[in-house]
Amino acid sequence: MFKVMIEPANYENIHLAVEKAFEIFPQSLSGKKVLLKPNVLRSSEAKEAIATNPAMVRAVVNKVESMEPASIVVGDNPGLFSYGANEESFEKTGLTEAAKGYYRNIGNDSIKLDFNPDFMPSVSVSRAVMEADIVISLPKFKTHGLTVMTGAIKNSYGILPGAQKAALHRAAGNPHRFHEVVTQVFSLRPPDLFIVDGVIGMEGNGPAGTDLRNIGLVIASDNAVALDAVIATMMGCDPAKLRFLQKAQELGLGSYDLEKIEVIGQLKRIENFKLPPLGGEALFNNENIQNIMRSRTMLRPQADPDLCTGCGTCVEQCPVSALSMGDQVPEVDQEKCITCFCCQEICPEQAMSLK
Ligand code: SF4
Ligand code: SF4
Repeated sequence: MFKVMIEPANYENIHLAVEKAFEIFPQSLSGKKVLLKPNVLRSSEAKEAIATNPAMVRAVVNKVESMEPASIVVGDNPGLFSYGANEESFEKTGLTEAAKGYYRNIGNDSIKLDFNPDFMPSVSVSRAVMEADIVISLPKFKTHGLTVMTGAIKNSYGILPGAQKAALHRAAGNPHRFHEVVTQVFSLRPPDLFIVDGVIGMEGNGPAGTDLRNIGLVIASDNAVALDAVIATMMGCDPAKLRFLQKAQELGLGSYDLEKIEVIGQLKRIENFKLPPLGGEALFNNENIQNIMRSRTMLRPQADPDLCTGCGTCVEQCPVSALSMGDQVPEVDQEKCITCFCCQEICPEQAMSLK
């Protein structure tokens, strides 16, 4: 039986929920190298709820410190290409301060590992992740246009530094295969404990949208598949329909079957929770829609001219060079676009959405 904790919390008392997570999922940290992996995504402010909140990171750092580990590292690999964005992203979100001196740019050093040759023969993973004795993942409760939700499994995509994330998007080529990539990256080093910041979550056009939702919960587990199944259920999405969870179960990483999950707390569907466009059951139940997605003829990015500042970041970061700067806003080459959602994720003005 897998266990998932659902505990009411706000950012003032979040340390109580963190304490409870460590009671339910005890970790032996004394003398160990511990890595904390928040979800940072890109440079943003804490109030945008794009990244794991500093209050959560501070609470976990305090708890881990008290357990006398040999070392603590707080790190992530935000962005799709840029190595330089790491410090800036942590600083702006307030995570450098929350990390209490333990922040490191984990994108500076990596270890090469064999990967699935269908996508790439090898990938490089941050050395700090692979050499940690204990990895604690701190995901954010958010939707994601490509994977429907970003929780425990998707948070591990950030163990890849630099441009590999974009290269794997390109190698996957379509949303269905990208789900498999995400799970296979996760399987390179499954974290030991997951504590999700579900205090202020995101619905609708995530993972960098503007529809924030006061959920008021911390969700934790030592199994990512069970945890993501619970989050999907809360969002109103059948976990069995999510390809990345199917793949994770096939790989023996856990179970999304709620019958096999003991929930400590109250599991309730969040009323009227907005899934991403074409997300959830609509996307995964309907073969016609799946075919359309696979043939990549439907969703294309569109910049909102009222929000776009013409900064060109999306043009620079598109992994297949499908964007070019038009008169006012970026324009997409329909033939080249692989609907990877990278431009939507990376846009600092939240001007880009896939329609
Ligand atoms: S990143 Fe956003 S603001 Fe910058 S050019 Fe692209 S759509 Fe416009
Ligand atoms: S235009 Fe946007 S969605 Fe299309 S391939 Fe480029 S980054 Fe991905």
